[in-house]
Amino acid sequence: MGKRDYYEILGISKGAAADEIKKAYRQQALKFHPDKNPDNKEAEEKFKEAAEAYEVLSDPQKRQRYDQFGHAGVSGSAGGGFSGHGMTIEDIFNQFGDIFGDFGGFGGFGFGGNRSRSSRRVNKGSNLRVKVTLNLEEISKGVEKKIKVNKYVTCQTCGGTGARGNDGFTTCSTCHGSGNVTRITNTLLGQMQTTSSCPHCNGEGKIIKDRCTSCHGEGIVKDQEVIKINIPAGVAEGMQLNVSGKGNAPRRGGINGDLLVLIEETKHPELIRDGNDLIYHLNLSFPQAALGTTVEIPTVEGKAKIKIDAGTQPGKVLRLRGKGIPEVNGYGKGDLLVTINVWIPKKLSKDEQKLLQRLEDSENMKPDPGKMENGFFERMRNYFE
Ligand SMILES: [Zn+2]
Ligand SMILES: [Zn+2]
Repeated sequence: MGKRDYYEILGISKGAAADEIKKAYRQQALKFHPDKNPDNKEAEEKFKEAAEAYEVLSDPQKRQRYDQFGHAGVSGSAGGGFSGHGMTIEDIFNQFGDIFGDFGGFGGFGFGGNRSRSSRRVNKGSNLRVKVTLNLEEISKGVEKKIKVNKYVTCQTCGGTGARGNDGFTTCSTCHGSGNVTRITNTLLGQMQTTSSCPHCNGEGKIIKDRCTSCHGEGIVKDQEVIKINIPAGVAEGMQLNVSGKGNAPRRGGINGDLLVLIEETKHPELIRDGNDLIYHLNLSFPQAALGTTVEIPTVEGKAKIKIDAGTQPGKVLRLRGKGIPEVNGYGKGDLLVTINVWIPKKLSKDEQKLLQRLEDSENMKPDPGKMENGFFERMRNYFE
């Protein structure tokens, strides 16, 4: 599912200027326009692909990130890649509809008719931001959260129109109800007719005469909504999920804003997270390390038993493959690293002291002289700096 290069999609060079990009997108969009290619899946995909390329390349910041990092630089806020893309045809008209407006009466591509919204700028509601706090167990499995938010929703009394009843409107006197204003200009190629949205009524063709009393003509009211959010496994502190269409409703019709979910992570009492790996510090007693044993350790899936070999040295790291956190939006899992420490008792009874004194002089208690390998000091220096 490798994505095509955005410059290649629009057929332009890397250094293309803003108006070149716009022109190239317009050409692609006209060629693969759904009105010209009814029931053609391939054309629809091409149409969406061009819109996605234009969305990125027409925004200087996104374009810069794309030039620097490729698709990874523009696929979602926290490197997650779960926001933004996968636009529907509807979204494309909402977002870039005005690009077709300039073509209103040109060369017979009359998109007006059944798709009058394409020549109209559509309102978008504002985005909502919420924080969600997750523990390590939830992060390792993924979780569905229900969040109660205060937001603007469409007024039920007027259905979002802002007017009282169907006769709460009067026809716009500027455009006489069409929502468009047409202008004829003389160019080198002859007369050109351009159609744009009526500024008086915002392209609606009508104006409110009698305001809805519930929303005072705004078309929206404050309300509380419980929103279900599916959080994928592997998210991390500071990541942001984008739930499109779950933000505020716009004034008097249009599309909803997005709900932006910021992830907060609570610390696990025993496990430390390091990227997708987990670390657990295991303290063994001297006899356990010397004789070998089986111990219980915590994992995100509950307790697990691990075997400790006889003669295990402090500082040894046991790697339990696949017992870490899954890659977000990907395959594979991190590991659980168990770092071993041997606990030296700080207080001893008389009997314990006697036992240890007897051990001290026995043959196998003598420490290894500790051969130093090449590069040992360099490694230590790096470690402390
Ligand atoms: Zn209302
Ligand atoms: Zn008007």
